[in-house]
Amino acid sequence: MERQQDLQPPHGLEEILATFGDIYKYMHPDGSLDARWLREFFTLTPLPFPMALSWDKTRSVTQMTCHRSMAGVFADVFTRIQERGLESEIEAFGGCFAFRPQRTGTKLSTHCWGIAIDLNPQTNQQGTAGDMDAGLIEIFRNTGFEWGGDWEGRTRDPMHFQFCTGYKLF
Ligand SMILES: [Zn+2]
Repeated sequence: MERQQDLQPPHGLEEILATFGDIYKYMHPDGSLDARWLREFFTLTPLPFPMALSWDKTRSVTQMTCHRSMAGVFADVFTRIQERGLESEIEAFGGCFAFRPQRTGTKLSTHCWGIAIDLNPQTNQQGTAGDMDAGLIEIFRNTGFEWGGDWEGRTRDPMHFQFCTGYKLF
């Protein structure tokens, strides 16, 4: 599979908006998100191996909704994970794209752009040390992701990886 080298992780909100789209222009006054956001910027990308859903482990996902520009990056990450034989370290998929209606001006999670992913949430809750595999962390880092486990104190979020820097919100 082709390695995605061109896309650099943006730094800070302005660069995120410029790189992945100005989501605020797609939010209605009531804080809900227009369906055009998903239509214009998102794609369903296949995963090289299935992952159990964290909220229903009897089900697994073989594809994931993410930002269109991130399909190659995520494919790269999961291929590297598979090449290193670390699939079994992913116990559960906790989500990529997520949006909850927000008050206008609220700081949005990087999940709103489909550039973040949560893994093994049960054992990697916010504010805890967690038990994320060092090999997984290394692969995500080498592919341009920031790991929420590097954040300090209560913002520490070891389940979370995001393709940007200078913007902390899980
Ligand atoms: Zn997250």
